[in-house]
Amino acid sequence: MTNIGRPTEGQNQWYPFMDRPAPSLVDGVLQNPPVVPVNDADPLPASARYVVVGAGIHGLSTAYHLAMELERTGKGSGSDVVLIDKAGPGAGATGLACGCVRNLYMTGPLHAILRASVEVWESDPINFGFQQVGYVSIGEANQAEDYVRLNESQVASGYPSDLYTGDDAHRFLKGLWPDFKTDNCDVVLHEHRSGYAGTHMVMWGLDQKARQWGVQRCYGVAVTGYDLDASGSVAAVETTAGRIQCDEVVVGAGAWTPKHWEWLGGPSTLDVHYPDGHVEHGMDMWTYWRLLEGEVFLPPGVDYRTADGKDAPVLHVELMDTPVYGRDGEMIQDHVYTYTRYAAERVGAPGLQGGTIPIKMGPEASADPYGHLNDDYQADDWFPEYYCRTLGMLFERFEDLEPYYKQRRNGGIGAFTPDNVPIFDHVTDNAFVIADSNHGFKMIGVGKLTASMLVHGEKPEELRPFTFGRYADGTTFGDRNSNCPWV
Ligand SMILES: Cc1cc2nc3c(=O)[nH]c(=O)nc-3n(C[C@H](O)[C@H](O)[C@H](O)COP(=O)(O)OP(=O)(O)OC[C@H]3O[C@@H](n4cnc5c(N)ncnc54)[C@H](O)[C@@H]3O)c2cc1C
Repeated sequence: MTNIGRPTEGQNQWYPFMDRPAPSLVDGVLQNPPVVPVNDADPLPASARYVVVGAGIHGLSTAYHLAMELERTGKGSGSDVVLIDKAGPGAGATGLACGCVRNLYMTGPLHAILRASVEVWESDPINFGFQQVGYVSIGEANQAEDYVRLNESQVASGYPSDLYTGDDAHRFLKGLWPDFKTDNCDVVLHEHRSGYAGTHMVMWGLDQKARQWGVQRCYGVAVTGYDLDASGSVAAVETTAGRIQCDEVVVGAGAWTPKHWEWLGGPSTLDVHYPDGHVEHGMDMWTYWRLLEGEVFLPPGVDYRTADGKDAPVLHVELMDTPVYGRDGEMIQDHVYTYTRYAAERVGAPGLQGGTIPIKMGPEASADPYGHLNDDYQADDWFPEYYCRTLGMLFERFEDLEPYYKQRRNGGIGAFTPDNVPIFDHVTDNAFVIADSNHGFKMIGVGKLTASMLVHGEKPEELRPFTFGRYADGTTFGDRNSNCPWV
């Protein structure tokens, strides 16, 4: 066993099972292990109709749905699908995400992606660890119009949500949580179908489903490049276990997407055209952001339940004009941006997990080691106080949370697109990239939509707005009234 010297005693976040081996080293760099035990991986075959790269939420969902749809339509079976991951399920962002599933997007076309995704979450909430507790988002008056649009678009896309403003908003919040402090909470959106999911549970559930449907799961095999033929199509995927010829490739590589994009011949910079006619020249194709998240135990006698004793909705609050002050009276940030969900399965005891706005880095970052294993990308020192103070500003019951903050690693990076909105598109005629711009744990339905496209040959309507071509044709997204890149 490799002695990695971390994490510190008692902080076992990457060893959820007692008999798991320590992470392995490749060229002296720690590799994130899968978050579920894998004992029955398949050897890499020499060829396959479909190769799916990455066993995160997108790769696993694609492989599972593709296997089912091939079988259902009589057009093939699970064995036509080869899923490759250099480690295994959940070794990337999916294994350590906060697990929030919401539809709070100011980019309207995402509402249909989320509706399709929640249908998948609802299809097997037990094996996906989905808790449909709802999602409550709060804004200040400056976001009121955005919330009205959001609510209308959600309802129109089959995703029921309720909107409250002014006194109604305060009454709604007090009704849920009598100790809620409603100052500056001017507008509230309540999404009924949203919630959160346990990240390890969904990896386990999807991996077992892929296995049951006969997907060839090749774990511990790293893709090292793509063999492109003269026309630019992928003829084969090159890996540490040899070449595999294939007809179609789907890439769900999370923070490693920029590398795969480059291998597939995608550009590293581009001119980005916006609907108002202005053009940003030479933008980076990928920008890394570093996420700030953390966990806190619930103090004795304190719960995160509603007035009627139910599991509370996930809470998301952005007060763009309300500063957050530390215990010494110094301002920590000039705005509130905080999200929180009940997270006993993650904290290991009754507790909360949440975070704030990520920090922009730039076009370069080291994806290995990833997440908790990477010393450079953990939450900043100011984060625990900020996070606890925001909750204390909102709830009387959370006014003294800081002593209960769980000191452990929670970091992770993500590769964002030029407009911070996903790209679901072909980069070559037979290589489809699911690049969710690092807010796609919730988007479990993208794999189902992708599978449908592969089997039936037609891109489902929900996926169509998320082209790479939007940057050239002037339909770039990005019109959002938020401090955060993923609202
Ligand atoms: C700290 C944090 C919190 C988050 N919280 C949320 C949240 O609450 N809600 C939400 O919706 N989203 C959240 N996200 C975003 C979300 O986790 C990601 O967008 C999503 O999980 C990405 O899924 P994926 O399948 O694309 O990639 P990943 O889960 O990163 O999986 C990619 C896989 O590809 C494999 N791989 C990469 N390169 C190769 C290669 N060369 N060969 C073989 N395999 C390879 C990796 O081993 C990895 O397993 C969060 C992200 C972070 C970092």
